[in-house]
Amino acid sequence: MQFASRWLPRNGRPEVTHATGNSYLKDGVLPHMWCAGCGIGTMMGALVRSFEELGYRKSQTVVVTGIGCTGKLDDYLVTNALHTTHGRALAYATGIKAFKPELKVVVIMGDGDGVTIGGNHFIHAARRNMDLTAIVLNNLNYGMTGGQASATSPGASITSTTGYGNPERDFDICALAEAAGANFVARTTTYHGWELKDSIKTALTKTGFSLVEVMSPCPTQFGRRNEMKETTAMLLSLRDRATPLDHYRELPEAQRVGRFSTGILVDRGEPGFNERYAAVRERAVREAEGATS
Ligand code: SF4
Repeated sequence: MQFASRWLPRNGRPEVTHATGNSYLKDGVLPHMWCAGCGIGTMMGALVRSFEELGYRKSQTVVVTGIGCTGKLDDYLVTNALHTTHGRALAYATGIKAFKPELKVVVIMGDGDGVTIGGNHFIHAARRNMDLTAIVLNNLNYGMTGGQASATSPGASITSTTGYGNPERDFDICALAEAAGANFVARTTTYHGWELKDSIKTALTKTGFSLVEVMSPCPTQFGRRNEMKETTAMLLSLRDRATPLDHYRELPEAQRVGRFSTGILVDRGEPGFNERYAAVRERAVREAEGATS
């Protein structure tokens, strides 16, 4: 995490600034609301750095969020922002992008919001190859609402709704996006800060549906129930389990257990929804004009 703090009195409160100079963050919003050790702030730092390095204009950028700890992120930004209903962020974002293709639309979701409650929207946004960048922060549970199991809680993990171990199997979010047709899929962790920024930045430059899955600690709800009470234990677990794709492919099946692949997993370059939609509209207009002439 690259937050720099300055202790300058400002309305009686310490002022904390972001290392980027706050150009995409509202004045006076730091320090943020997330728990000590949570990865959401790290992800927000990577996002605003990506905007800055790509020179995104605030008026042309829309950040759409859903509900949950991750969904609070839009509160901090000076870009256009839309805080939507639980699991529906991708549906709202699809409407925005279809109507105003010139806008850069980024969708920020947690695993509960993005692929559990919002699983159907996730599949269809990827199937449409909708020209959006989706960032799914995967902390393996519903953090804000009390640590319930989500579709990514690992089998046997303890959550507030699986006190004796989770009997369900978990989604591989990246495999789901790939199978549904996403153009670009990458996975990294909040332990790997610069790789995280580079992954988001690359995803933002792609056409079609681009996904970055961000594996992240939730020490407050998930870690303390799963023998990782200290934030450092969660971060070290992410460090040790993250395996670059080339190395992961070479591992025998038995050694992949507990690990996950990282890096760019899919990069297809197929036409996105907006390109195909523009072609259909053009054909419709041509045929309508032909019918009236
Ligand atoms: Fe982060 Fe978990 Fe705290 Fe929510 S409950 S802010 S996800 S650590």
